[in-house]
Amino acid sequence: MIQVTGVTKKYANTAVVDEVSCHIKEGGVTSIIGPNGAGKSTLLSIISRLLPPDTGSVTVDGLDVAGTPGKDLARKMAILRQDNHLTVRLTVRDLVGFGRYPHNGGRPTVQCREKIEQALTFLDLTALADRFVDELSGGQRQRAFIAMVLAQDTDYLLLDEPLNNLDMKHSVEMMRLLRRLTDELGKTVVLVIHDINFASCYSDDIIAMADGKLLHQGPPSMIMQPEVLKDIYEIDIRIEEIEGNRIGVYFA
Ligand code: ADP
Repeated sequence: MIQVTGVTKKYANTAVVDEVSCHIKEGGVTSIIGPNGAGKSTLLSIISRLLPPDTGSVTVDGLDVAGTPGKDLARKMAILRQDNHLTVRLTVRDLVGFGRYPHNGGRPTVQCREKIEQALTFLDLTALADRFVDELSGGQRQRAFIAMVLAQDTDYLLLDEPLNNLDMKHSVEMMRLLRRLTDELGKTVVLVIHDINFASCYSDDIIAMADGKLLHQGPPSMIMQPEVLKDIYEIDIRIEEIEGNRIGVYFA
């Protein structure tokens, strides 16, 4: 379980995350939604300790992230950031191997090699494993970074816009994969996502932010309501029930 208590982060006296408290339960998919600049990425970075909050605290399974040694935290929680740049030329397999670093300190074991191959298979990257990352398309590169996070084999995965650069097929596959990680392996997945319909179809819980504040939290049935979505996005979104899922219609 992730517990966020009274977290605030300010830049130049403006609170971009403003007194946010929430509880993310173990073993599900939680989507963080909201307009651009709402503070979603900042909150995710604070949860993973990439950024220190000005006030407030975050605990993961009772561990205070501020006081937990980095190596211990890296075995509990993996994060995929939005801006992934490589300064060295690596093959996909080598990149995925970096995910094992918290476990092996750079000396891969037999188990590490297994986890790397599993992650490559999960992300449909086996055929590309020996290619250099800088030779891949944006979507293939995105999958390679997610495979690296998966190889870290943590209970918690935090993903900042994992559907970036993915086409429809790979977006659906990614969301199904995230569900399998929770349903079959018991992992806890927290993602920042723009597409409210993917959030609706694949999440157990949705956290909605705007202007640094947490506006709503609840299951898709509660968040996918025209008045709730208007409160978050300030536009009219019609809801249709399709095959048991609530779909927001906002294209015209
Ligand atoms: P979201 O992920 O919801 O789009 P972000 O968390 O990326 O929002 O950003 C929230 C706000 O904080 C934005 O207005 C952004 O410009 C601002 N911000 C983010 N990082 C910094 C920074 N390092 N310095 C100044 N402002 C920042």
